[in-house]
Amino acid sequence: MCDGILKRSPFLHLIAPAGVIGISSIPVFGHLNREVIKKNICTLCGACVASCPVDSVEITDETPKLTGICVRCGMCYSACPRTEDYVGNVEKTLFGREREEGEAIGIFKEIYTARTLLDDVRKKCQDGGIVTTLLVYALENGLIDAAVVSGRDPKEPWKPVPMVALTREEIINAAGTRYSVSPNVSALGMAVKEYFKSKVGFVGTPCQVLAVRKLQYHPAAATKIGERVAYVIGLFCMENFSYAPFIKKFIGEEKGIPLSEVTKFSIEKGKFYVYKGDTIALEMKVSELKNYARPACHVCPDLTAELADISVGSIGSDRGWSTVVIRTDKGKELFEAAVEAKFIEAKKLSLEDKGVSLLMKIASEKRKRAKK
Ligand SMILES: Cc1cc2nc3c(=O)[nH]c(=O)nc-3n(C[C@H](O)[C@H](O)[C@H](O)COP(=O)(O)OP(=O)(O)OC[C@H]3O[C@@H](n4cnc5c(N)ncnc54)[C@H](O)[C@@H]3O)c2cc1C
Repeated sequence: MCDGILKRSPFLHLIAPAGVIGISSIPVFGHLNREVIKKNICTLCGACVASCPVDSVEITDETPKLTGICVRCGMCYSACPRTEDYVGNVEKTLFGREREEGEAIGIFKEIYTARTLLDDVRKKCQDGGIVTTLLVYALENGLIDAAVVSGRDPKEPWKPVPMVALTREEIINAAGTRYSVSPNVSALGMAVKEYFKSKVGFVGTPCQVLAVRKLQYHPAAATKIGERVAYVIGLFCMENFSYAPFIKKFIGEEKGIPLSEVTKFSIEKGKFYVYKGDTIALEMKVSELKNYARPACHVCPDLTAELADISVGSIGSDRGWSTVVIRTDKGKELFEAAVEAKFIEAKKLSLEDKGVSLLMKIASEKRKRAKK
């Protein structure tokens, strides 16, 4: 398909990155389409959208599509978390070695249980508010100039929309978890190409974190985008869902819960909860929802965003607190600075702590599931 478009375009020599014309062996959008999208293992991270130098890739109906000419740069393919396995290379770059078999949550320095000390964050956050608080601290101290987060669609508040947050207020308004896929990496492209930001704090699920690391370090990826990332904050994630069938149809229509009245969705101890204020409007076993989970999640081995600077989730902590896995030097510096500045209250956990054992167990289960 790309070849046909390529031959027809009289403008290709003006827009194709140097060295691309004439190279036919590099995998391009057509390969991505065949090997990932059509095989139903696309994570919808948005890396292909961010990478395309001529903005020819768009996501419609939860599917990346080629909407213009393909200039055969191959950058969409190289950044995709489901193409070439690049995890080991990233681990060597970040940590100086690859993960060993027994390291269920990947390579890390320290683990904490922590919560925000900021009242405005506490009112909106999902768990301990650590993700939002770290971003607020980083923005207010000049460590980032924008944050890529997932906001809310103005018409459908539980539909996540990738966004570039430029103020404390915007970061805080994006707090909380929307349990459906938000192609956050596409907003990283926006932060760089539309807002010209150079120190971006990125938040995303494990697959999105891998895409961002490929954008930073893969020699054939759009590293001009990756080099503008200052911090990568990863979210723990067992699986994600599609908005239309799960949130809109199943919760909103089949279960008859008006989405405008929902105040929170959460997953705790194997159960999925829908809240209206303090009332539980729906409680179900997560195992009963497996038909709604995105098929792409079933091949993912990573629960804890192992390639992030800092990973955050609820497993392993009490309600209202977050489990925080510190992985890199820059992640450690950011977290310690936010604690020092009294933005965050933190208690260090040891490998013997019950919460940490549980986290390791669930992470191992996710790895086994992916192998199957
Ligand atoms: C799809 C999904 C599945 C998850 N599954 C688990 C799990 O199995 N176990 C577990 O312990 N934790 C899981 N989490 C993480 C958990 O829900 C919290 O995000 C995490 O504990 C951080 O809490 P916090 O209070 O620090 O975050 P907050 O301060 O509330 O910030 C949350 C951040 O996440 C961003 N965000 C919200 N929805 C999405 C989305 N759909 N995609 C990408 N970014 C988003 C927000 O924009 C915000 O920046 C999951 C999160 C998501 C998005």
